[in-house]
Amino acid sequence: MTALSARPDSAQNSERSLQDLVRDQRAFFATGKTKPLDYRLEQLNKLREAITARQDAIIQAAKEDLGRPEFEGYFEIGVTAELSYVLKRLKSWVKPQKASLPISQLPGSAWVQPEPLGCVLIIGPWNYPFQLVISPLIGAIAAGNCAIIKPSEIAPATSKVVAELISSTFEPNYVAVKEGGVETSQALLAEKFDHIFFTGGTRVGQIVMEAAAKQLTPVTLELGGKSPCIIDKDVNVKVAAKRIAWGKYLNAGQTCVAPDYLLVHSDIKTEFVEALRQVVSEFYGDDPLQSQDFSRLVSDRQFDRVASLIEGEEIVIGGQTDRNEKFVAPTLLNNVSWDAPVMQEEIFGPILPILEYQNVEEAIAQIAARPKPLALYLFSNSRSLQEKVLASTSSGGVCINDVFLHVAIWGMPFGGVGDSGIGAYHGKTSFDTFSHMKSILRKPFWLDIDWRYPPYAKKLDFFKKIVSLS
Ligand code: NAD
Repeated sequence: MTALSARPDSAQNSERSLQDLVRDQRAFFATGKTKPLDYRLEQLNKLREAITARQDAIIQAAKEDLGRPEFEGYFEIGVTAELSYVLKRLKSWVKPQKASLPISQLPGSAWVQPEPLGCVLIIGPWNYPFQLVISPLIGAIAAGNCAIIKPSEIAPATSKVVAELISSTFEPNYVAVKEGGVETSQALLAEKFDHIFFTGGTRVGQIVMEAAAKQLTPVTLELGGKSPCIIDKDVNVKVAAKRIAWGKYLNAGQTCVAPDYLLVHSDIKTEFVEALRQVVSEFYGDDPLQSQDFSRLVSDRQFDRVASLIEGEEIVIGGQTDRNEKFVAPTLLNNVSWDAPVMQEEIFGPILPILEYQNVEEAIAQIAARPKPLALYLFSNSRSLQEKVLASTSSGGVCINDVFLHVAIWGMPFGGVGDSGIGAYHGKTSFDTFSHMKSILRKPFWLDIDWRYPPYAKKLDFFKKIVSLS
């Protein structure tokens, strides 16, 4: 008896149908139908119409899954801005790129032709559960691929909307959704894909990469990490506090690029704490539990994890929790040590530890000694400090004097480095991620100089010249 036949019928059926789905997508891809530019543009337009028609449902689902305010729900719809960006430029991206030839290779012509990879798998997280599967899908379609999406089971309302949207818009042999949890994800990972695009935590990223290695499948891993935020003494403290509070507390801190912890110059620490206290009260009122503008943690598990990080720490703002509501107030922890539990893992909740520095070199050394983060924030008017931080730290991206916004510039790649991820996407980078760049050389027959053919005896001097010339 095989392992498969020992399983219950339902598991066998769903696995078999998964295999059928992958096989059908491969057959559809092999017809070549997904490749013409017009087909890709048509599908992207269909996707845009489908999203626009379901705006209310998407925002409602984000509210159900994460208690998202309507305003923050619209972040999910932000993918339509990326769609417009791609639709305007795709015609130029699909064109072959000419390459110049060295003299020794003339006559001939060479070019790089982007071609689709085939059938790709997109696995999504729960924190921006719509946007973070649809944005990679835009790249997959733009590059001419078929795709299977596995949305996060931890955001079930959004997972349902994604499944409905995709099944009403595309044939399953072109784009399909497989809803489910870890087992579904692992069953998908057991199949052979041409690319796996994963967004989630570092631990699961390792599992995905291991599974992909067995099939020699390339991966993009969009992971997280502890993104530091350095605040110099020469800044506009009020504006800095506002921007940081917004980027940290939106979606209740469940944002991969949220500032994870603050490194504040000791000369302005007290002023900054007071500014942040005032901003939090302006944003969410005196009782943030009652605020219409503050999200909830996604699950009891996340609530327990995040709430436990406050224990034993000096709370200067917030600190209230309510398990029934999955609510943790916007919180600032003072005098946190590098060894505290809250400094050992990505917080992914509305808790902001504050550490201080006198000497910026020490702050930089602490950052550089830790895994490379997804984002790094620096608030400073000093160009020389900006340059110093840029030169001596490594992170997926950097935003100076603001937070979060650098990820919404479609002309720049978004991705991590080191522990915060492998590969990148957004705009043209997504197109490149889901394409193979095929190098092509074409030679005519009319000239066939015999410098490279044996016998070599009389050709060595000439060849040496060619080698040194090229
Ligand atoms: P997660 O890693 O727990 O789950 C992501 C996906 O992996 C889900 O679809 C889940 O079903 C699947 N999965 C979970 N366990 C699995 C397993 N053992 N085998 C196979 N698949 C499995 O991540 P999450 O909790 O949904 O998201 C939070 C993390 O994602 C944070 O670390 C955050 O920083 C990161 N994140 C990164 C980005 C980015 O763009 N870089 C964006 C959002 C979130």
